[in-house]
Amino acid sequence: MARILVIEDERDLQRVLDFNLRQAGHEVLSALKGQEGLALAREKLPDLVLLDLMLPDLSGTEVCKALKRDPRTSGIRVLMLTARGEEVDRVVGFELGADDYVVKPFSVRELLLRIDVILRRGASEQPGKAAIDFGSLKVDREAHRAWVAGAEIELTPLEFKLLVTLFERKNRVQSRAALLDDVWGIQADVTTRTVDTHVKRLREKLGAAGDYVETVRGIGYRFVETPGQAER
Ligand code: CA
Repeated sequence: MARILVIEDERDLQRVLDFNLRQAGHEVLSALKGQEGLALAREKLPDLVLLDLMLPDLSGTEVCKALKRDPRTSGIRVLMLTARGEEVDRVVGFELGADDYVVKPFSVRELLLRIDVILRRGASEQPGKAAIDFGSLKVDREAHRAWVAGAEIELTPLEFKLLVTLFERKNRVQSRAALLDDVWGIQADVTTRTVDTHVKRLREKLGAAGDYVETVRGIGYRFVETPGQAER
């Protein structure tokens, strides 16, 4: 259940989206033009904007740019609706910070699924955001502090970086080599063993929240949203 703004000048599509999004339990705001949509976004601060690329006044990329430029609206998720042949704009859309896109004609079912995925990612996972608030785990990136179930845990700078790195790539397996590169940087004296040792210690310190960090046998590690589905 989210507040979704649809900026789309095709009235039929606008109607279909409005109906289906409401059916799915969302609050829907509609605009037929870019300027109007931008004004609505600033006033109502929706969770997500469905943004058509080809609008009669401002283009979708301009709307997206304007949203991302303004700190008040930069956190609003953007899903681009593009027509075939808008390949270039599509890429630009991502460079502008759009979260996803669908190509017209699309199935409403698929669109709803994509919307769910984007909304589930949650505001706390946006890159550059200072705070992580995930289940029993809380992390303040700027202050380099972490809490599990309200109790602060002491992490070394490396453990902290390891935790944040795994979290930011949630549900994606990170190989030991990749973690070495990203967390330790290129250092001659560390081996993949080092990763295992640090992950083990990190898990111990995380206590109950340690289950979020899963071992993927033969490959590496992964931060999971629902622990217990893979072997440790
Ligand atoms: Ca259009």
